[in-house]
Amino acid sequence: MEAQEKSSDFDLKQAIENDELKIYYQPQYDALTNRLVSSEALVRWVKKDGTIVLPGKFIPQLEESGEIVALDWYVLENVCKFLKKHQDEGVHSVPVAVNFSRKHVNESDYVEKLCKIVDKYGVPRKMIEIEITESAFVEQSEQILEHIRKIRKADFRVAIDDFGCGLSSLSFIKDISADILKIDKALLSHNCQDEKERIVLESIFDFAHRLKLTTIAEGVETREQLGFLRTCSCKMIQGFLFSKPMPEAEFDTLCRADDKPEEMEDILLVQAPSSATQLLLDAVFTRYPLIIFSNLTKNSFYMMAYENFTAQSCPASGVFTDLIAHGASTMHPEDSDLFFNTFSISNQMEAYKRGDKVVSVVTRQLGDDGIYRRVETANYFVKNPSSDDVLVISLCHNLD
Ligand code: C2E
Ligand code: MG
Ligand code: MG
Repeated sequence: MEAQEKSSDFDLKQAIENDELKIYYQPQYDALTNRLVSSEALVRWVKKDGTIVLPGKFIPQLEESGEIVALDWYVLENVCKFLKKHQDEGVHSVPVAVNFSRKHVNESDYVEKLCKIVDKYGVPRKMIEIEITESAFVEQSEQILEHIRKIRKADFRVAIDDFGCGLSSLSFIKDISADILKIDKALLSHNCQDEKERIVLESIFDFAHRLKLTTIAEGVETREQLGFLRTCSCKMIQGFLFSKPMPEAEFDTLCRADDKPEEMEDILLVQAPSSATQLLLDAVFTRYPLIIFSNLTKNSFYMMAYENFTAQSCPASGVFTDLIAHGASTMHPEDSDLFFNTFSISNQMEAYKRGDKVVSVVTRQLGDDGIYRRVETANYFVKNPSSDDVLVISLCHNLD
């Protein structure tokens, strides 16, 4: 039985004393394998007569009075108790996301308190995710960014909740260093059949993934929505299609049932074409720490991946000839000619006209640590149907 009316009779202290404040858990599933991967803690006021009051009925008044801060800590403490129980009993648990009001930004000892509670129960910090609603970014944006930096520095993961329904400017997303983006259910109407809605969603997932954010779609209710979200390579699904928020005991049973590692479904059977492409890209990115996309005709380049590579100081100008000059300057002097000859724009253009598919060389490259290492660079020519520009993808990796 769920109460509909606004609960002006809610008394936080009383509810806690009477043990009427209950934590429900909503499972979050991997969008491709349908496996339980994490969860969100959602508070309920369960009255003695069995009436369940949803947070929308009492949280606004707590936000107003400031008591929301105490509620959030209460929820965290109970989540930690739950996770500790799993840990003690050897149950394979999943991380739990806890909602924290924007009011915590003003708590000067927030991170200390967070660490103290979680550590007290011996729960690994990676098992707790901190959810902060996107609307919090409208005001206090500088303080929020600093707040998030501190939380992540303490090894907790941070999720931006309700993305797409607040009024914050898109620019905040480039400044923010979060781990997870939760796309709000308000963006998922019409079973995702509306063309404009699909464009907006595809773009959000695209920029989120390029910013290396893990994506979760909230409020997924239909198979059509799920199908579309898979084509966007959405990582995780939270919604009534799979499961409603459930009482702790029920979620406990679910975790225990998921305890035995299931036979993995054949990944190719559950792939949407774009997800398969994503897998392929991930494989390429894992194999090559440095990937550069260049337009030889326009003398420009774009760094697609740049991690754990020997030379960490490639130019950011985007001018291809600068890149080659930089490569040559950090090259073993005996390899310089080979490098220049192979990768000068004119020589690559010639190779392309000859019909070569790839040009590759091994050179010795000076790392930022002052040591020369052998680097293999393979430049693959690619065609773009909408232009005659000569494009090339460089895949580079250290051989030593
Ligand atoms: P939220 O953090 O965005 O949580 C997701 C809400 O969407 C939950 O509502 C959940 O029940 C609902 N939901 C999930 N899947 C579906 C679906 O498929 N369809 C529909 N229609 N709804 C779905 P809930 O539990 O009523 O919570 C509402 C909000 O209250 C939460 O939104 C969160 O902002 C706030 N809240 C809940 N617990 C806490 C808490 O402990 N602390 C704070 N500060 N806020 C909380
Ligand atoms: Mg939330
Ligand atoms: Mg949300």
